[in-house]
Formats: sequence, structure tokens, C-alpha cells
Amino acid sequence: MKLSTRLDRRLDRRAKHAPISFLRPFATLMLIFVSAHAFSHGNAAPTTKSDRSIDFPDVEGYQTLVVDLHTHSVFSDGHVWPKIRVEEALRDGLDGLAITEHLEYQPHRADIIHPDRNRAFEDASASAKDSDILIIPGAEITRDAPAGHMNAVFINDANKLLNDDNAPEDQADVLAYYAATKEWPAQSAVDAAHAQGAFVFWNHPYWSRQQPDGLARMNDFHRKNAKAGKLHGIEIANGQNYSEEAHAIALKHDLAFIGVSDVHDLIDWDHPPAEGEHRPVNLVFSRDRSLEGIKEALFAKRTVVWFRNLLIGREDSLMPLLAASISVGSATYREGTQVLEVDIQNHSDATLKLQNRRRLLSWTQPMSSACLHTA
Ligand SMILES: [Zn+2]
Ligand SMILES: [Zn+2]
Repeated sequence: MKLSTRLDRRLDRRAKHAPISFLRPFATLMLIFVSAHAFSHGNAAPTTKSDRSIDFPDVEGYQTLVVDLHTHSVFSDGHVWPKIRVEEALRDGLDGLAITEHLEYQPHRADIIHPDRNRAFEDASASAKDSDILIIPGAEITRDAPAGHMNAVFINDANKLLNDDNAPEDQADVLAYYAATKEWPAQSAVDAAHAQGAFVFWNHPYWSRQQPDGLARMNDFHRKNAKAGKLHGIEIANGQNYSEEAHAIALKHDLAFIGVSDVHDLIDWDHPPAEGEHRPVNLVFSRDRSLEGIKEALFAKRTVVWFRNLLIGREDSLMPLLAASISVGSATYREGTQVLEVDIQNHSDATLKLQNRRRLLSWTQPMSSACLHTA
């Protein structure tokens, strides 16, 4: 059974900060009986870096990059300028950001008419020019079910995904424009993205406006595109929600695990850092810190979703991350006792729960060290 499946069972969507348990990596540490009063000491305070910065260690052979592949600005139905998205991303320590405007749903078009659908990317890129954040070109293809919403990232030209046949003459007429878009074939947008070598993923497939029972189900449109190599990922976490069904679809159809903020307002309103929250992001294991590296890693499905202090990923991505997140400083017996003191450091943002087969040992807080006492 894959680790992702085992982890899945432990996901408790009701617990906002539920820790994740990893059993196997600690098996070697749990050589003898566990003290009933195992405790931790040392620096349990968060990292001295900005508390809100999302930070995970690199893994063997790859850099761990933090990316948000789904956000909005005023160039579709978001409420901030792209510059603010960039500023938020810098505060969150992101390595990569995509502003993925709805190509077709343009509720601000009475105020902001922009025939060039690349404007959000261009504006974000200009805002990011003095920083090292990577701005990823992307757009959201927006249809009713069954196609639903799909993001295409690493595109060359968003305009070519927009088939605006029969567009109303009044460019400022929001409702007429959106009504016309429903007639545009979703497949032609996916094909245009594919022709540009885009990485395409299915957004919030459990969205209750399109799936009234809130359960993601694979359908013929997505099955066909996945089979044709035109659909590469699926959101298993979006904003405040995680979907077990989307997770299962990702496993069954060999799609990349995607987790995104899909922010429209302010990140701090949706995920208040002062309350210890963080936006959902993808950890991407990339050969280098570049757009090309992120793209290659996504196609290779080297991703983990970081959602509400949960790490969700395939075993071959999760285990190297866990190995890099934990280091053992020392392990010594207390003199004259069978109590083993093990110094463990957690280099990740995740709160890791250390556990042997039967009972809790201790917690390691993000970016901290802990001393376990086992006997
Ligand atoms: Zn959407
Ligand atoms: Zn969206």
C-alpha cells in the first residue's frame, strides 16, 4: 500500500493543525521500551526566520521549491493587483507563483478591459523583477461541468487559449460575455495549452457549484485528456478544502498531486499567519531553482501538497522529504539507566509527531530540536 494511502487515512479534516505521523522512519530509534513520560526540551520556538515563511529542506538530489500554482488578481475575479500577489508570495517565502486568471470569467471587464490575457503575468513579472521569485505564466480555463475549471501553467501565450467566437460586441457587458463563453469548446482550450507544452491540472473537482454532493468523480472529459497526456495533475487541496476523492483520482489516474490557495482576496484573510495558518502550496522537488526545473518536476510528479500542517504526497516524494526534515544529533544512555536520550532536530515547517508502534513519544515543532527519552 502506498504511503499516501496510509497517510490519507490519518487525515482529519476537522483538526486544523493535525500533526502527521510517520512510523517507519523512527523504527530504528525505538530500540527499547518507551518511557511513559517522554518529553521534549530545547528550542521549541519557531524558526528565527519570518514565522510565516514556508520552509522545507532540500532533499537528496533536488531542491525543495515552494510554489502556489493558482491565484487570482483584478484581471479576472480577484480583488488585488498582481503586485500584491507578488508581495504576499515573498512574505510567504514562495519560490514560484502563478497568477491564473479566468480566461473567460471577467467580472471586472466594465472597469478593466484587457484584451491581452497575459497582462497579469506581465504585471507580476515587472513587480517581481527586483526579487528572486519565479513568476510562472498560467491561466484558468473556465467551463461548467464536466470540464469544469482547469489551470494551464507554463504557457507561452494565454490569448491562444481563449476562443472568443461570438463574443458580444459590448466588451463591458460582463454577463453577456460570460454567457457566450459557455459555448466555447473546452477541448480547444486544452488543446491550445497542450500545443504550448503546458502543464494542465483539474481545479477543485469537488466544487459544490459543479458537484452538488461535493465529491470529485472522474468523468469522460478528464479521463480522455489524462489518457492523451493533456491532463497532468489534479487539485487535491484548494483553499480551505481537501478532497479524499480527488486524492484517490490522482492515485488511480497517475496525476500529480496539486495543492493551491486559489486566493481571490488577501492571503492573510484566508490563512491568517498570526493564527499559525499557512496557504496550501505545492512543494516541488526540482533539479534547480528555475522555471524549467519546476516544470520538469511537475511533469515528473515530484510534488507534495502542504495543507493545514499536513504533508500529502506519494511515498517516493514524501520519504526523502521526511529524511531531510529530521536529523539525529546524538543518542546516549543516561548513566546507570536504560533510558536513552535521543536528540532529534526538525528542519521543516511541519509539526511531526514521533511515534513508535503503540504510543506517542513526542512532538517536534517546526524548526526545533527535541530530546526524546526512551526506556
Ligand atoms: Zn476555478
Ligand atoms: Zn481559480
